[in-house]
Amino acid sequence: TLKNKTAAVTGSTSGIGLGMARAYAAQGANIVLNGFGKPEDIEAARSGIESTFGVRAIHSNADMTKPAEIEGFVKLAEETFGSLDILVNNAGMQFVSPIEDFPVEKWDLILALNLSSAFHTMRAAIPGMKQRGWGRIINTASAHSMVASPFKSAYVAAKHGLVGLSKAAALELATHGITVNCISPGYVWTPLVESQIPDTMKARGMTEDEVINEVLLKAQPTKEFVTIDQVAALAVFLASDAASQITGANMAMDGGWTAQ
Ligand code: NAD
Repeated sequence: TLKNKTAAVTGSTSGIGLGMARAYAAQGANIVLNGFGKPEDIEAARSGIESTFGVRAIHSNADMTKPAEIEGFVKLAEETFGSLDILVNNAGMQFVSPIEDFPVEKWDLILALNLSSAFHTMRAAIPGMKQRGWGRIINTASAHSMVASPFKSAYVAAKHGLVGLSKAAALELATHGITVNCISPGYVWTPLVESQIPDTMKARGMTEDEVINEVLLKAQPTKEFVTIDQVAALAVFLASDAASQITGANMAMDGGWTAQ
């Protein structure tokens, strides 16, 4: 169990991050949520975690593209709960465009959110983890940390970079009881993915099944989505004592995508 531990998950007001936060809470950890959204939705997620799992949960609205706010996020966790033991860098976004048309400010934003934010959270959280001799850092990468797709240059570059950062951190922290790993999902059924389907059906004149199999799951040999709960279960495992010798790894959960 993770009783008396604190898990802080960036980008956890929706999708994979919220699933991870709930899974850590189910193990008894106190939770720091982070991310944007309607205040009433965020409050419902926060109070739902407390009432369902009997732990404490707080929300930080820190913008993960802003180093000073990121430092505040880590401080808030440590000051509220006494420690930050499990750090999950999960906040991320996508933008699709040919390189020559790629808006420069989108490139900067995606690199800041999907890559640099993990450097800033780690920089702030590692001293406390070292002091306690225990820590888990888990980064949500992507199948796009291992292979590329056209028109996703910033995302692919940031996710490949996140894996490199994680490996360097794993080596630095190897003798301190702190592991650093990436989880690399293929297509996960999140509201984000679901909401693209109607538009794609219209744009391509396809049925829902055709969009799912011939567009979304084209690269995923199982032809099934990864579920949020499956990704969250791997995140819980990586935080367990059974996973103490897994460090510097990039664990694929992609229905076979990157085996091709
Ligand atoms: P999502 O859009 O449902 O969630 C993104 C979260 O990040 C939200 O909570 C949002 O509020 C937050 N966020 C956005 N900008 C932020 C900022 N500047 N500061 C702080 N928080 C911010 O997306 P998701 O599908 O759950 O994706 C989560 C992670 O998983 C991302 O890193 C994504 O790249 C990765 N991923 C997703 C898939 C997929 O198929 N859904 C596949 C592989 C990897």
